[in-house]
Amino acid sequence: MKRLAGKTAIITGGARGMGEATARLFVEHGAQVVIGDVLEAEGSALADELGKNATFVRLDVSSEADWSNAVAAAEKLGTLNVLVNNAAIMRMTAITDTTVADFMQIVQVNQLGTFLGIRSVIAPMKAAGGGSIINISSIDGLHAQAGVSAYSSTKWAVRGLTKTAAIELGQYGIRVNSVHPGGIYTEMGGSAFMTEEQLNESVYKDFPIPRVGRPEEVAYVTLFLATDEATYSTGGEFIADGGWFTGMRRPGMPCS
Ligand code: NAD
Repeated sequence: MKRLAGKTAIITGGARGMGEATARLFVEHGAQVVIGDVLEAEGSALADELGKNATFVRLDVSSEADWSNAVAAAEKLGTLNVLVNNAAIMRMTAITDTTVADFMQIVQVNQLGTFLGIRSVIAPMKAAGGGSIINISSIDGLHAQAGVSAYSSTKWAVRGLTKTAAIELGQYGIRVNSVHPGGIYTEMGGSAFMTEEQLNESVYKDFPIPRVGRPEEVAYVTLFLATDEATYSTGGEFIADGGWFTGMRRPGMPCS
């Protein structure tokens, strides 16, 4: 069943990782997809592979001008109904080692980028009679860890922004929800320097689901929110974290 037939989506950070998995799934389900990213070679190659239902645009999510181009590209494909604000960057540093420039760069992409995305699609989605905006936050937008002060701040901000937008836009049929992935096997999730097996053993072995997640496992949550199956969900938080936020088994504690 094509769950997104007739829909047009912009997916930011769509050239690799979870954005790429989402673009693949959306096209498989009948959507027209604009892949927006700063990685031009990867994004163009993916759009070529996906064929006539996908197009790549260079989109730096912190640029207002780039957002105008991305919306125009989507409107060439069809009626813009879906936005996935997925692009983000992360750097792990202690607060004492985080410069203002480091902090602000992460805010620009993760927080301002999400805001600009939401603002850019309001007019076309209103004209279309509604739409779905899915903001990819993180488990770090629900709890906190040492070493990710800037990243975590922006992911909590995305969660708050989601709720404000849901309240403002529900009257126009525009739903806005946040998705909170746990550890997912992408570049950001450690794939450049560890195998899945190494990660499972060193990080995930005491989690309720004792392994790293796959990009598709988050993409399916995003897919649901993009479809008309989710028409009564707005302002919600959808978690795909292998149970990380729930808690974990403790070595030495009784366990079934
Ligand atoms: P990734 O680093 O593999 O991919 C991120 C993509 O965003 C890349 O294609 C990158 O080029 C793009 N990007 C970066 N800056 C951009 C900008 N200014 N404009 C446009 N695109 C830009 O990461 P991922 O793991 O696929 O992450 C996807 C989303 O999931 C992010 O929002 C991330 O914060 C979130 N997330 C990831 C994990 C994880 O463990 N991987 C966990 C929780 C949340």
